[in-house]
Parts: sequence; structure tokens; C-alpha cells
Amino acid sequence: MKKLKRLISLALVCFMIVTADAGSIFAAELPEENKPLVNYLLVQEPYLETPGKQTVMIGIGDGSAAIDSAVLTYRNEQTDRMYETEATEILNDFVLFEMEYTNDSDAGTYRLEEISYSAEGTKSIASFKEMGIEASFGVDRIAENEPDDVFLSDEEVEALAAESEMSIVSLDENGKPVSGETLEEALEEAGCSAEEGLRAIQKGAAKTGAEFRGMKSLVVVLDAGHGGSDPGAQKNGIVEKTVNLKIAQYCKEELGQYAGIVVYMTRNSDTYLTLAQRAQVAINKKADLFVSLHNNSNESSGPNGANVYYPNSNYNANVGKTGMELASIIESKLTDLGLASGGIHIRNSENNTRYPDGSLADYYGVIKRCKEYGIPGLIVEHAFISNAGDAQKYLSSDASLKKLGIADATGIAEYFGLKKGLGFNSILSSASTTMDLTWTQVKNVTGYCISRSTQSGSGFQEVARVSPATKTSWKDTGLTPGVTYYYKIRTYTKSGSDIKYGKYSPVASGTTMIRPVISSIKSKNSKALVISWNTVNNAANYEIYRATKKNGTYSRIAMLTGINRVSYTDTKVKAGKKYFYKIRSAEPAGGSTIYSDYSDIVAARTAKIPSGVAVKSQASNTLRVSWKADKNAAGYVIKRADSAGGKYKKVGTASGGTTGYYDDATVKLNKTYYYKVQAFNYNDGVKGVSGYGSAASGKTIRKTSITKIANLSPTSQKISWKKAKDVDGYIVYQSTSQNGVYKKIKTIKSAKTTSLKVSNLVPGTRYFYKVRTRKKVKGKYGYGSYSAVRNVWTANTPKITAVTGNSGSSTEVFWEPSGGAERYDIYRAASANGSYQKIASVADTAVSYIDRNLNMTQQYFYKIEAYIKGYKTASVKSMSAAAGGSPVSVTSLTSAAPDAGGKLAIAWKEVKDITGYQIYRSTEENGAYTLLETISNPSVTVYTDASAAAGTSYYYKIVLVNKYNGQTVYGQYSDAVRGVLPAPVSPEAP
Ligand SMILES: [Zn+2]
Repeated sequence: MKKLKRLISLALVCFMIVTADAGSIFAAELPEENKPLVNYLLVQEPYLETPGKQTVMIGIGDGSAAIDSAVLTYRNEQTDRMYETEATEILNDFVLFEMEYTNDSDAGTYRLEEISYSAEGTKSIASFKEMGIEASFGVDRIAENEPDDVFLSDEEVEALAAESEMSIVSLDENGKPVSGETLEEALEEAGCSAEEGLRAIQKGAAKTGAEFRGMKSLVVVLDAGHGGSDPGAQKNGIVEKTVNLKIAQYCKEELGQYAGIVVYMTRNSDTYLTLAQRAQVAINKKADLFVSLHNNSNESSGPNGANVYYPNSNYNANVGKTGMELASIIESKLTDLGLASGGIHIRNSENNTRYPDGSLADYYGVIKRCKEYGIPGLIVEHAFISNAGDAQKYLSSDASLKKLGIADATGIAEYFGLKKGLGFNSILSSASTTMDLTWTQVKNVTGYCISRSTQSGSGFQEVARVSPATKTSWKDTGLTPGVTYYYKIRTYTKSGSDIKYGKYSPVASGTTMIRPVISSIKSKNSKALVISWNTVNNAANYEIYRATKKNGTYSRIAMLTGINRVSYTDTKVKAGKKYFYKIRSAEPAGGSTIYSDYSDIVAARTAKIPSGVAVKSQASNTLRVSWKADKNAAGYVIKRADSAGGKYKKVGTASGGTTGYYDDATVKLNKTYYYKVQAFNYNDGVKGVSGYGSAASGKTIRKTSITKIANLSPTSQKISWKKAKDVDGYIVYQSTSQNGVYKKIKTIKSAKTTSLKVSNLVPGTRYFYKVRTRKKVKGKYGYGSYSAVRNVWTANTPKITAVTGNSGSSTEVFWEPSGGAERYDIYRAASANGSYQKIASVADTAVSYIDRNLNMTQQYFYKIEAYIKGYKTASVKSMSAAAGGSPVSVTSLTSAAPDAGGKLAIAWKEVKDITGYQIYRSTEENGAYTLLETISNPSVTVYTDASAAAGTSYYYKIVLVNKYNGQTVYGQYSDAVRGVLPAPVSPEAP
């Protein structure tokens, strides 16, 4: 009794699995609003008695957001009172609610109304009714759940799981949620055997033709009751276990003469089996029928005759109906032997054991257990051992026992319409290119001829002759996968050279297994790969094999029992590791399993969730999201939210696995943003994703600006900037061209230091500076934006290239231009080491200066000082070396020659800014010169010497005359120039 209860409670683990939206294959890429809210719902106890505990498990969302809290609202349908309960356990997106019912007043049926939950700060409410989920349970009262509405067949569950890629969740023995890719896995992880849980939902999932790749044979399991240490009844010299086995063997032998049937025995010798083990043979063989063969006994010797027990009509009415009809035929075949008719019976549980739907169970364990798997189970009590007449007449000789076995067999054959004679018992594709044939044995022949065609009605050709006649199986090889082959068989008898043939059997067919093709593998998240394949004949189960090396050892990681199952999610993979897969289809047929050849091997790896995600300020308007780059990633998707629990929206992608950051330049200054990063990869061109890791946050930091740059000397400058808030330092960059390369010249590790002195600069060079802020957050330095670039020249010492006399009273000072000068100041002194006085300031564009009103007989000395201005600060001065020069103090005579009037004219080069000239004459070049004339007009450049005598050589010199500080000054004598007037021609002598 205790054991039965445990079994039921395990079965109920899977009581209800409902899905709201199965179309969530790409849920992670759908807009938030399109995502299904509830993936599945599981009510542990459809019915419970007080005191008792109910557990409701709900899967929410797509797994991208972690649930923080959840409240389940449900209603008592009788009192209309609403109840709320908080989640007792949250595991990622699985939420568990537990409700205790202790009082009689809790009785009633409860309907689940809605679940409200908060995921990363965002609240949502999901109404079960609006999602089309009707879920209720009863407390001391049966809730009116129509079983077929809430139960899904194994295939349906698998198909839903495949479509939605959702995981199936179950509870372990501590009520903790555990997930598995298949229900089988989920249940195994929950600590109950897959088979125990599966039968609850497999009920009614009777075999379909799709399960038969080959010929559809009837599969019958015969169970000889008792055995080994359990002798059964013993009276009148009869031991029940012994006669039961004999009847079963005779029954099998008889059934062996019928075509289209495969018979299995639970035992073939005197061995002990539990009731569960007996039923398990039928479950394993996917039997169509289970018959347990017994003989009756009573304390009284009176009762006699045959009795057959069949399943009641609860839980699976079809099983009950088949059982009843077959029981009736077998009973009649037994009474035909002369046995008294005890009738056919159902026997209900006498301790209130229930089927998972709450209906009363059958009393007999084997009948009940088989029914849970959709198998009709019978118990045939052939005769009464305790009755002397029955014992003597039906149980004491092999001949009588054989009759009983034949009666059972005949009943079965009649009910299922089996025919005796040569015919196939099974035609099964045992691989993609082979077909295994078995047939009934015919005696007194040489052997069998087997013919094959790919059409049902024609084209048959003999493909084999099998002998001797006791050999009743043959393997057809070298076939084409996925092709239906038709076979017929006939006997042949050889007598000398004469061969006689029997009649052909009816045609039977089988289809070879198609070799599955893996169509794609994609990364569903960092720990799950979804393997998809092309469906095989629309009707197949699959085995998935995996290895870590292409030529390594492949282990079977999953057996999928689902029609149309075309994908499997492997959740036992490590992030980023490469795996190799192959699959094959596997099908139950005729009581065994047949397999296709393996698919080609396909390799894949999951995309790893980027690790080390960090956010730092890259500029005052840019946040840099960084992560550890993965060479196996094809790219990354970056999502952002305004709060940790806010809605994350895609802000950008980074391509290439080696990229380790993304700069988000759409952020506001000093505002905190949250980021998640997902990697994606391609497996044979199929894009897969890693899922998102936990969020990282950051905010930008303020920038600074350069306030001044001072020239301290021609080789040093001082840069100053504004103090920035919320930073911990600054970095100063320098370049010698506006758009050139900026060199980091100093990192300043204090927010308070706001200036930097730069030395060893090159004079006369223009330096460009920018400064940015920095701040260390979570071990990483973030930066503010660069300040605007400012530039300043370093001072350069001007160089005087010439000081030239320009006229009688001015000099011109020339210098090389000095880069960055704001202006030049000209200094003059009377001697090289004298006292220099500033005499003028000229613009930065000037490269010479004319110094006027000078004494033409004096030498002057000059220095030029350049003024170099900083950025928003005072200038620095740089004085050139001294250079000396004089105004013009002498001119030159250009000629002394007769003019048109026959007088001697002396000409000279004009000198400006003087008051006049003095002309001197001598008759000897080095003799004494006498002043001839003082000319007071400096623009006059010719003097006519009216006193010059013809034929005499004269020498002339000129002296410049000027006034300086009220006194007349005279320049130096020019070089002498000779002039001669020709002598007059004498008249001719008489
Ligand atoms: Zn028995």
C-alpha cells in the first residue's frame, strides 16, 4: 500500500504541463512584448487531502531576466475567495509556490488566476485565463479537470518542448525544481525513474502505425504465473508454477504457427519474477497484449472452472474494452474444453488505490501497470488446483495442459484475426540498408523461397532460398535507405532434380531506415546547443551521440521518443567547448528496436557569455563596455538599460571575436547606465547566441578645459586647467601639430593638481596641448573627454642679420622672424656694451626697422627683443645679441667731365636726409684740397666748376653736410675723381 502511494505521487509530478506560447524559438530576439510570459505550469497534486501541501511550479520568461519575486493568485471556486501566496523558491526563471492545507474548511477546488512577478525591477502580471491556461486543483474535493485536457502525451510534450525549445521542469524529492531537456531527463533528475513518471502521461498513447518501420506484427507477452521461490497454489499433487509454465509454452508453440505475431515469455524456466518485472517485459516490448497464465485455488475443494480477469474501464477505456472482449473469447475457448465457466471479471482496488486521474485502480498489479502503458493485461485462471476434478482432468497431463495452451492461443488468434500457415512474422529494417525477415515454420519441406519487389503488386524477384526448413529467418542486405520493400515467401521441396513449390504467402512490407541528416547546430545559450535534423519518414525516435573529438568515443546522450521530434537541446555542454555529434533513428518494431545508420558527424560549440564585462567612462559622452574577447565568437550584441532591472535595449554590436569593447557615445554625462553583452557565433553558418551575463554599470566623468598656457622661458611652459568634479586625476597630452600625434606627457594622480610645468622644450616651437580627466572605478581607469586643444609657441631669441646705413641719418636693422612673437621691441645703444634704450616696438610681422635722425658720423648698436604670448597669459621676452651699424657718411662722385657749355661738371650720388654737400678741388690727387662750394640742397647732384682752366688736370672730392642736435656735422671725404677740360685749338700759323 505504501509503495503504491509513492508510485502515484511520483506519477503526479507530471500531472500538468501546459504551455502558453510554444512559438518561442527565437524568444531571445523577439521584442519584449512578444515574449511568452509563462512557459509552463506544473501543479503537483491535482487532488490532495488535508492536511496536505500543494506545490505549483511556473516557468516564466525567456531566461534573460532573473526573477526577483513572484506572487501567485488563486481562487476558491466554491467560496469565490481569492488567495495570494509568495514564491517560496526562485531558481532563475523557475518559480515555486507551496500552499499548506490543514483545516476541513480549506476544502474546495482552487483555480489559478494570475501570477505577478518582478524581474530585474520590472513588474509584470500574467493572467492564466488570458493565456488560455485552465489550471485547478482540489482539496478534499476533486477538481473538474478533464484528464485529456491537462494530460499531454509523451509525444506532445516532446513536440512542444522541441518547438519552444523550453526545458521541462520537475521537482526532486525535496521539492526543489530541476530541469531537463526531456521529461525523461527531468524526472530522472528528480529522482524518480523516467519510466515511473512517463507512464502517467503515456497513458492512452497507444501504439500507432508510425512506430512500425517494418511489418506490423502483433506483440504478445505470455506470463507464466509464479515461479522460483513462489510455487503458487499446491494441491492434489499439482504445483501451480509448473503447470502455468507448461501452459504458457504450449500457448507460445501454438501461436508460432500463426503469421504476423511475435511472442515473448516473461519466464521460460522456474525463476522468480516480481509482478512489476513481469509487466515491465510487456512495457519494454511495447506489447499489444499481456496475458498472465495461472490456475486457481480455494480453501474449499468445491469451486471449479475457468475465470478470466480483465481491466476495468477506468483511466483508459480502450484497454478495458479490448481486455473484456478478449477475455470473453478465451473464456469460451476454455469452456469449449469442458471446463466450467467461472465467467470474466474485473476486480477493482480494495484499498482505494487510484489511477493518476483519480479514478479507482484495478486490483491486480500487472493489469493496473500494463494499463498505465496502454497495454491490455489479462489474468487467465484456467482451472482450480483445489478441485480434484479440474486437477485430474485438465492439469495432470501434458496433453491436457497443451489443450489449455492451445485454447488460449486460439482465442488470441481469433480475436486478432491471425491466420495459420506460411507467412511473415516480422519484416524489420535493422539498419538503413538491411531488412530482417522471420516467418512461420513449415514442416516436411526443403526450404523457403523469398521474393522481393519495390511495388506491392508486381515486380517480385526471388532474392533468396533458405534451408533447412527449421531456419525461419533471413537478413536482406545492401538495400537503399528509406525505401519500402515488399516480400512474399513460398516453400520448396526438392526430390532428386524435381522441385515443387508451395503457394506464396501474403505480401508483407517494411521500409528501410533513412539515415538522419543533421541540418544545423546552433548555440542556444552558453550552455546549450540545439541540434536539429531532417525528419526521418515523419515517424522516428532518435538517439543522439556526442564526442569531444571527431574520432573519439561517442556516447549516447539522449534517446528521444517523439513523433516528429526534429531537434534536441544538449544542456550538458561546457561553454565554448567544441563537441561532435551524430544521430541515428531508433524505432521499436515487432518487440525490438531497429536503428538507422548514423548521420554524418557535425561539430559545434556554444557561444560563451562574454566574461569580465566592465563599463568605464571613455569620454564625457562615451561609455566603453569591455569584455574578454573570445576568438571563437563571431561578434557581440550590447544591450543597455537605465536601471539594473530596467528594459535592456540593443545599443550596438561589435563584430569579430577579437574585439573586446564597444564605445557607446549616446550617453549623457554623469548618468549611470547598465550593460549586458551577448556573444554570438556560427556553427556551419548557423548563428547562435550565448545569452546574457550579469549587467555591468558605469557613468561618464566630467571633462576639463585648459585655462592658460604660460611661457616660462624659451624652453618651458606651464599648462593650467580647470579643476573637475568627481575625478581623481588628469592626463596631459602634447603635440607639435594640431592634428598630429599627441603624446601623453604626464599623468596627474590628484584632482587638486591643475597645472603642469613642461621643460626641455625647443625654443621657437609651437606646442599643442589637451588634457583629459580620469577616474578609477572598480579597478579600471575611466576617462573624460579631451579638452579643446590649445597651443602656444615657445620663445625664440631673435637674430639680427644686418644693420645698414640707409641715408645720411638713418640705419635699418634686419632680423630673422621669431615664431609666435606677439611683437618686437628695438633697443639701441651708442656702444656695443652700452646702455640700450628701447626706441621702438613693431608688429610681429615686421622683420626690419629703420632708425632715423641719427648722427651720420656715429655708430649705433641694436638689440631686438621678441615678445611671445602664452594662452590667456602674459608674454615672455627674448633679447637678441647686439649688432652695430652706421648711417651713410660718405657718397661717391660719379663723374667730372665737360658739359655741353664746355665747362667741367662734377656729378655725385644723391644722399637723402642731409642738409647739403661741400665740393673740394686740388690740382694734385694727394695734394691740398680747397673748398669750392657748399651746396645746401641735398637733391642737387651736379656742380659746374666755372673756374677750371682748359688743359689742366683737377681732382675733386665731396663731403656730406648735415645737422645733428643743432650742430653741423660733416661726413668723410669721398674718393677723388679727376677731370680735365681740353686745351683750345690754335689758329694755323701764317
Ligand atoms: Zn496463481
